[in-house]
Amino acid sequence: MAIDQTRQGELAAATARRRTFAIISHPDAGKTTLTEKLLLYSGLIRTAGMVRGRKGGKTAASDWMGMEQERGISITASAMQFPYKDAIINLLDTPGHQDFSEDTYRTLTAADSAIMVIDAAKGVETQTRKLFEVCRLRRIPVLTLINKMDLPGRPPLDLMTEVEQALNIHASPINWPIGSGSDFAGIVTRADHRVQLFSKTAHGGATKVDVANMVLADLERSGRVPPDVMEPVQHDLELLDIAGNPFSRDQFLNGDVTPVFFASALTNFGIESFLDAFVTLAPCPSARLADREDGSEYPIDPVETPFSAYVFKLQANMNPKHRDSTAFLRVCSGRFERDMMVTHHRLNREVRLSRPHSLVAQERSTVEEAYPGDIIGIINPGLFAIGDTISVVGGFNFKPLPQFQPEIFARLRPTDVGKRKAFDKGMEQMAQEGTVQIMRSLNDLDSLVAAVGRLQFDVLQYRLRHEYRVETVLDALPFSCSAWLGGDPATFKAPSASMVVKDQRGRVVVLFGDQVMKTIARDRNPDHTLRDMG
Ligand code: GDP
Repeated sequence: MAIDQTRQGELAAATARRRTFAIISHPDAGKTTLTEKLLLYSGLIRTAGMVRGRKGGKTAASDWMGMEQERGISITASAMQFPYKDAIINLLDTPGHQDFSEDTYRTLTAADSAIMVIDAAKGVETQTRKLFEVCRLRRIPVLTLINKMDLPGRPPLDLMTEVEQALNIHASPINWPIGSGSDFAGIVTRADHRVQLFSKTAHGGATKVDVANMVLADLERSGRVPPDVMEPVQHDLELLDIAGNPFSRDQFLNGDVTPVFFASALTNFGIESFLDAFVTLAPCPSARLADREDGSEYPIDPVETPFSAYVFKLQANMNPKHRDSTAFLRVCSGRFERDMMVTHHRLNREVRLSRPHSLVAQERSTVEEAYPGDIIGIINPGLFAIGDTISVVGGFNFKPLPQFQPEIFARLRPTDVGKRKAFDKGMEQMAQEGTVQIMRSLNDLDSLVAAVGRLQFDVLQYRLRHEYRVETVLDALPFSCSAWLGGDPATFKAPSASMVVKDQRGRVVVLFGDQVMKTIARDRNPDHTLRDMG
């Protein structure tokens, strides 16, 4: 009993230390730079500036692998873990693509909070908006970091208004910038008017920045910052005190308010105080809702429930030396131990979780134990699918992961017909990973692919080329929405600009040129049902 209680105590303490989050941003807002600076301030790296070649087409994930090779940091291509003060931080990688990516959405399901990075000159951009909506849907609390304050940007009050209006959330600045562009000198914390003044380091932002701490009144008296820079700060602070949103942690956790911070990830101005606030404000793993077999909802407590986890991402061939697939699991409850026997709920069988690892690159480091909020990679011998729940107790399933309706469709074929077998194998793997959805013509002759964004097709073709040595030709199809057809396909009166196909599970799907066509088809076929996919 005493031992059990100690172990429970350890588990509760380990859970309370975890902060599992993702960064959401539009490309170029500074996600990679911020990631690197978080590592700098966590003490994992001593100098920043290793994340190179990104603009040469590499993704952040491969940057991380490069970093891991250099420094031996514990990284998977999906998540990296680092300590900061008393916290253990798990940063999930959300590929910063221009386009929609289902992968990113699924990854967000594994996060307990998100940091929204906004470029001070650009404000809220499209990708940020889309990702923010996913956070709202999943009730993931969001912290906002207004980045690139060292460059000429929009007035901070304008940015507040834009965040509130574009995202329909209250914005509550925790600190406020003193100057911007080349005048960006520091930040003042609104609650106590304490100021941090920064001095540029000799090495740009490669090392931590020097900070001078003082109170606002002393700064004003000192004359260290010119009056034309100070005046708007005083004006804004007064205005915010009168008209601004008060901050409450509960409201933040509830998704009603986003705390806002100002910084420059490049020069490190404001990064440390942001990180301090992040570990204080961001939630640790909490109970997750699951469905019991009888259909009732059931909260899985991270500490009370023995080990459970779910698969949020699959990825094959991450390492050319190991041709295999990795299932990434988010630990939701209990303590994970290597070689543990668990129940695989969908397959209703016992599996042993051997060879778990926390990084995938040239070398793998084996995970001995993991706690709620942690991400583990398991070599996946075809056992796992996205959304699978595993646990030691069984009897429930975590909520299904969001699926998005495909919006673009194409016909795909190998250029060399002799490569058909490799093509089919690759397609099957990609579909299993959720890169794209695969459909077939009713006569089975054509392979069709469906996706939410064009990028998914690019990824598909790239991976077929590099991992399966198959060159492919993609012909875009003029459809933009789809629906599952219920009823006899033979009597279905298809409107023009539509096509009847079947999905991977053999269900009949109708593709439509636009929503209007879908409505016409519904009207014309009262004896059939057309159910939205997704
Ligand atoms: P990502 O696409 O969001 O990962 O953005 P990156 O971190 O790669 O940054 C895009 C570009 O903006 C790079 O050239 C960075 O050096 C630059 N950048 C990032 N943060 C800042 C900042 O705070 N100030 C300035 N001046 N440049 C920044």
